[in-house]
Amino acid sequence: MTVLDYCLDFVDWLAVTGKFVAVVVRREHNTYMILVPERLPASIGRWWMRTSVLIPLIFFVSAGSVQAAERPAPTEPPVSHFQGACDSDPDGKRFAEKACYTTYNPGKAGFGAAYHPPGCDKSAALTDRKKESLAKAYARAPDYVKAKLCRLTQLFVTHAYDGAWVSWGFWEGADRPPGKGVYLAISEQDLGREQSFVDAENETVNALLRRTDGRRSSGRLPSLRTSAPAEPGLTVLGVLTHELGHALLADTNADGTDPRHPRRRVSGPPTSKCFEDAFLGASWDANRFHRHMRRWVAFGDQYHNRQKNPDAGHSLDILRNAARRGRLDPANDAITNVYRSKEFVSFFASVSPEEDFVETYKYKVLADAARNQPVAFRLSGHDVNVLDFLDSGIPSKKVECLRDLGLLTGQP
Ligand SMILES: [Zn+2]
Repeated sequence: MTVLDYCLDFVDWLAVTGKFVAVVVRREHNTYMILVPERLPASIGRWWMRTSVLIPLIFFVSAGSVQAAERPAPTEPPVSHFQGACDSDPDGKRFAEKACYTTYNPGKAGFGAAYHPPGCDKSAALTDRKKESLAKAYARAPDYVKAKLCRLTQLFVTHAYDGAWVSWGFWEGADRPPGKGVYLAISEQDLGREQSFVDAENETVNALLRRTDGRRSSGRLPSLRTSAPAEPGLTVLGVLTHELGHALLADTNADGTDPRHPRRRVSGPPTSKCFEDAFLGASWDANRFHRHMRRWVAFGDQYHNRQKNPDAGHSLDILRNAARRGRLDPANDAITNVYRSKEFVSFFASVSPEEDFVETYKYKVLADAARNQPVAFRLSGHDVNVLDFLDSGIPSKKVECLRDLGLLTGQP
């Protein structure tokens, strides 16, 4: 579950030059040529691709700017990529009809002339059942979500790869021509699920803690419950709106108030600075966030972020390590404390500021789509409805921020 609008590092080519191997590495907009000794001790050789190990070994040869120098950084707020007219589509069939499979991996998208937009895999066709699942999700969406979904450049379905279910949101910056696209991909496994969105939420928490089926024997984590019957349309809507949330974060450049944000090179400052107060100021160590700003957010990676409120604070790595050794108490406490704080709409939201933004959007959408379906979490012997969190305190200010950024209206 990532929005991949830039790639951290990738190696363009290798050339052997006698005693050194020349490696061209592109990081963001800069190209570096570095010389690495051709023969490395075996123990180092295994790790030579890691930048942290490379630094003491490299002989820095040259650095140049590929694109940044040609194009000044924008100073105006970004113009939304969600443009154009939408057809009337009450049952979502037009939306579903446009979906196709893809094998595209945005993690290898590249920049500039090396970039190719995502495309359809014509060798596989979507079954009617999967189209129906997409149509139901669209039909169930509030109008302000339909207004975004109908304006996607393309909706994709992915096969599982490397054993993982992969859904993603991808927003094409100006450094990836034509620079106007916005894409969502949902895994076909998500489209086949019969469970409720509440069960899907519980699955996500297990996935965050890397508790695969084989590791569940050590017990259950505290979970959400609902008495409403499973409605697969809502479950799919939850997945779509999580990824849409990542695309909207990029589209508005909501987290790009600080001019040092790497995406400020292609995207101007946001129309509202509310992310800094409503999200960072309320719930996060803002300094840490600013030191590690990024747009690419891989599933379950905290990127050095730390929650501001120690009562709701946790480190996924520590929780995973304990769970791997059969100790679930730390995870149980962390999940319960996150809900007790009423600061985050979900445990997933407490992973990083970006996921906080995206999950707040998703829960706002689910609450608007299914307000009559309470989502219960047990706290001190009483059930609380987590959808009510959106209406007061810190989460309500986060929702206001989404509104300030124009994400809760049907306008492009
Ligand atoms: Zn995410």
